[in-house]
Amino acid sequence: MKRVAIVSGHSRGLGAAIAADLLARGIIVHGIARQPHPTLAGRPGYSESALDLADAAALAAWLDSDALATLLTGADQALLINNAGVVTPVGPAGRQGAAALARAVAVNVSAPLQLSDAFVAASDACPDRRIAHVSSGAGRSPYPGWSAYCATKAALDMHAAASALDAIARLRIASVAPGVIDTDMQAQIRAADPADFPRRARFEALKREQGLSSPADAARRFNDYLLSPSYGTHPITDLRD
Ligand code: NAP
Repeated sequence: MKRVAIVSGHSRGLGAAIAADLLARGIIVHGIARQPHPTLAGRPGYSESALDLADAAALAAWLDSDALATLLTGADQALLINNAGVVTPVGPAGRQGAAALARAVAVNVSAPLQLSDAFVAASDACPDRRIAHVSSGAGRSPYPGWSAYCATKAALDMHAAASALDAIARLRIASVAPGVIDTDMQAQIRAADPADFPRRARFEALKREQGLSSPADAARRFNDYLLSPSYGTHPITDLRD
């Protein structure tokens, strides 16, 4: 049985752990990020593309190539994990900046939607195809200073929910909040100026009190759910439920 996963943002953090865990389960993995995975290069069944998902022209060229079709040819199960994401810009409107906002929307929304569209088109012959958007509790509850992050994650939730209503043949799709994980993104959050991110202390306390999941644990739970028979029953979910 040929199982193939495309994982964006596989170079570090949650995405790196998801990629490693899927490969360990015997699933062929292709990563997409600007940097390579720290340990998987050269492993059987592993490949990656160096791509800046904020670069619309580069992403369009990749999608126009035969890369996806080649990866998914003959797959009995095809998985797309839209994990790449940025929390920046942090701060209220008026101080966010056009370039940082454009980048957040490109990485957090445009790229996942374009990858999903191309993935569905390229996996038409596959009997079991699954898309997972890596969302956040911030897409469901507003946080001061995170209007860009909250809005982009809410967009992923709505994309999954509306796509589920399209009832695309043999496709399961969900937007999954993974919980709070000890990654570079959390370090970035703890380093934010409290004037921009008033809830910084909550995240400092989570780290101090060991309230963060390790990337490996979060990835195992994420993949258990992604590969489970019930995946996609609820298009907006939280791994903590
Ligand atoms: P991270 O440690 O900052 O890693 C982010 C990943 O996204 C990296 O692999 C990075 O790869 C990739 N990425 C960022 N910008 C990119 C770009 N322009 N082009 C291609 N790839 C890009 O973040 P993380 O904490 O693992 O977060 C992973 C996902 O989980 C994100 O969607 C995040 O919103 C979500 N999430 C995280 C937490 C948490 O507590 N950490 C909680 C809820 C949701 P390169 O830099 O190599 O390009």
